[in-house]
Amino acid sequence: MSLKKYWAKRDFKRTAEPKGKVLKTKEHRFVVQEHRTLDGRLHYDFRLEIEGVLKSWAVPKGPPEKAGEKRLAVQVEDHPLEYQVFHGVIPEGQYGAGKVEIWDVGKLKIKEKTANSIRFELFGKRLKGSFSLFQPPTFEKKNWLLFKNN
Ligand code: MN
Repeated sequence: MSLKKYWAKRDFKRTAEPKGKVLKTKEHRFVVQEHRTLDGRLHYDFRLEIEGVLKSWAVPKGPPEKAGEKRLAVQVEDHPLEYQVFHGVIPEGQYGAGKVEIWDVGKLKIKEKTANSIRFELFGKRLKGSFSLFQPPTFEKKNWLLFKNN
């Protein structure tokens, strides 16, 4: 796992986002951040702690909250674990410029992981229960589907 792409996109003298490093912990967590960019568009950043980084997807419509729902989730660069607590303003001219708020956070239990699927359980305030991420073979590689199973 590497944070090179994350570091390359950001100037840490200008953004308050953490530089971070790959960091393995015993208890894994997830975070969802509501991200409103300067052009007024809203998406949700869905991040799962896996192998010392936050695997990250941008979910335009927000994560599914009801069993049986699914959402498009576009994979973006891995983020450092320190990003779990980040909220605030990313300044104009910086990557992702706009406002970031924590929408949900909590424990994460990975049930099964393959090259194109992850099954997991979330223990957040808003997101609870069994979810999965799946990369359909007919989709563009960065495009995944996020399901709420129950
Ligand atoms: Mn974002």
